[in-house]
Amino acid sequence: MDAAEFRRRGREMVDYVADYLENIEERPVSSDVEPGYLRSLIPTEAPLEPDNYDDIIKDVERVIMPGITHWNSPYFYAYFPASNSYPAMLADMLCGGLGCIGFTWAASPACTELETVMLDWLGKMLKLPDHFIAGTHGRGGGVIQGTASEATLMALLAARCKTLRRIRAANSELSEGEIRSKLVAYTSEQAHSSVERASLIGDVTMRMVPTDSTYAVRGSMLKKMLEEDKAAGLIPFYFCATLGTTASCAFDNITELGPICNKEHVWMHIDAAYAGSAFICPEFRPLLNGIEFADSFNFNPHKWLLVNFDCSTMWVKKREDIIGAFNHWQIPLGRRFRSLKMWFVFRSYGIQGLQAYIRKVGVQLNDPPCIFSLNGTVCNDLVGSNDLNQLLLKRITNSREIHLVPCQLSGVFVLRFAICARSTDSRHIQHAWRHITQLSCELLQENH
Ligand code: PLP
Repeated sequence: MDAAEFRRRGREMVDYVADYLENIEERPVSSDVEPGYLRSLIPTEAPLEPDNYDDIIKDVERVIMPGITHWNSPYFYAYFPASNSYPAMLADMLCGGLGCIGFTWAASPACTELETVMLDWLGKMLKLPDHFIAGTHGRGGGVIQGTASEATLMALLAARCKTLRRIRAANSELSEGEIRSKLVAYTSEQAHSSVERASLIGDVTMRMVPTDSTYAVRGSMLKKMLEEDKAAGLIPFYFCATLGTTASCAFDNITELGPICNKEHVWMHIDAAYAGSAFICPEFRPLLNGIEFADSFNFNPHKWLLVNFDCSTMWVKKREDIIGAFNHWQIPLGRRFRSLKMWFVFRSYGIQGLQAYIRKVGVQLNDPPCIFSLNGTVCNDLVGSNDLNQLLLKRITNSREIHLVPCQLSGVFVLRFAICARSTDSRHIQHAWRHITQLSCELLQENH
């Protein structure tokens, strides 16, 4: 493909993507293919001679689209938002064109510098304490990770390294292995599975802290476990709090937990993967109170801030804790120019535009409002038992009109309803509720 064809094909692709997104609600939101469907649709080996580009494009509809779950459909209410936006997509295209790999400042100064400034812009939107903002006299700063899972792991590894050094400095007779075997990390029993995975990768014990009736961890619960473990000669070193748990959008009480962690030299990391975007609105910002006690904080603009995947922003209180542990801010060496997406989106929407978007999805479309529109909408009452609710979900999924996923809360099978797509409006939600109600009624009639 030469530049002339690239120009032509590029315009065609932009048209294809715009048409796809503008007409997305006409497609069934989820796929009905069987596992392994794709292999039989394409050759078993790569072509020796070049394929024709027109054929490649035709195959997008033939091969790819049947197996796509349309995350940006207004009828997609599963998992969490993965909202994209046109400015973010254009910035990603530019990133691909520039193709620089910004692993050091010299490898592409703009890549490193824009990222630092964008993390400051976003940190200021969230009203993070000054020590997280690189452009102040603080010792902290921000970095873009690929995912929240990576941020949680980075924080755990940094905490492990910091604790090993601290304990060894005071007890030179202890070997690194001996200290390591005593380290204990903690998180909520409601935390995302990636938190426990971080402890497996980091090869440390992790204990799950029980939650209260709102599925939040309280200070007293963590304190009790720390006391038990210290009495048993173990070394608590890391606690991962969640602001906005995946299942029910619960908020751990970080104003209680933070001082306990600080006093015990326990690194407090905050995972606000999907709810974090909401903190740019002053009315939701109180949910972040207690952030001043955190050693690190992370959320995903790629979930709910119109910056398409991947863009997971992480701030640390002290840069040296991360850089001192790894000589680097992240696990991979290479880094894409992801801050371009943030820059384009922040400038195209402005803070007010982004706040308006959060409010639309989080508040206006919620009737009655459930916090951040995320989860929490329990259809359990509709049909009354776990078995029937499972059947209801199966029928909803098979209908392919709307897409939901379940979760378990206190042994109850819950249908989560998360408003995800940028294009979702009240008419889509009304349609979804009519659909759920109709299927529920049918199910109840059959079972009476
Ligand atoms: N933490 C929470 C609270 C989440 O809800 C999720 C995903 O839904 C994750 C972590 C994992 O996010 P990522 O895919 O960015 O690793």
